[in-house]
Amino acid sequence: MRFVLLGPPGSGKGTQAKMLMKKYNIPQLSTGDILRAEIKKKSKLGNNVKAIIAAGNLVSDDIILNIIEKCDKNGTCRDGFILDGFPRTITQANGLKKLLKKRDLKLNKVININIPDKEVIKRISGRWTCTNCKEIFNVYSKPEKKKGKCDKCSGELYQRDDQKEDVVKDRLKVYKKQTAPLIEYYKKEKNLIDINGILSIKEVFEEILKKL
Ligand code: AMP
Repeated sequence: MRFVLLGPPGSGKGTQAKMLMKKYNIPQLSTGDILRAEIKKKSKLGNNVKAIIAAGNLVSDDIILNIIEKCDKNGTCRDGFILDGFPRTITQANGLKKLLKKRDLKLNKVININIPDKEVIKRISGRWTCTNCKEIFNVYSKPEKKKGKCDKCSGELYQRDDQKEDVVKDRLKVYKKQTAPLIEYYKKEKNLIDINGILSIKEVFEEILKKL
């Protein structure tokens, strides 16, 4: 199976990708996770993209397509994949199409998770992470008991730069301008399914399975 997950930041793509990965036993490929790992390693690529990601902008298509080509070459996705956070532009979608065509393959489904802007802002800008054990809290849905401290280990909570409200609003603008056109792109290819992302994690997953 070859799936793409589309949707604004905070729509739950990563969570659903992990559930699909278990169900179909195929790897999840998240360009955001790959880039964050590079930043952590302080590699040349990581240093180059750090400020771009912190500001909520998109990394260049060349860099992203290079990452995808490497994954294609090392064969991790040969028997199927779930793409999470890629493609994010028409150029990237065309790059993916070309790669698949070389292998005589097609995408099975593009899963488009819809949530309103207000919910995006609430979900992401409410998120705080423990510096120590990485437990995630949310001021709206899972607040910590003692302000600024982790319930599990009492570590300090922090907010990632790209989760701050102003940056989230910018990420939404970037999504609408550069990524949302992919909805029409894949509708034309007749393999897009629309999912209501405002339901619970379990309900969203069930809706996806029903429509696949
Ligand atoms: P994500 O975790 O998917 O929201 O990605 C975090 C950040 O990484 C995004 O806000 C972008 O700055 C960058 N990024 C991840 N995937 C892509 C992509 N396919 N194209 C451009 N930038 C990306």
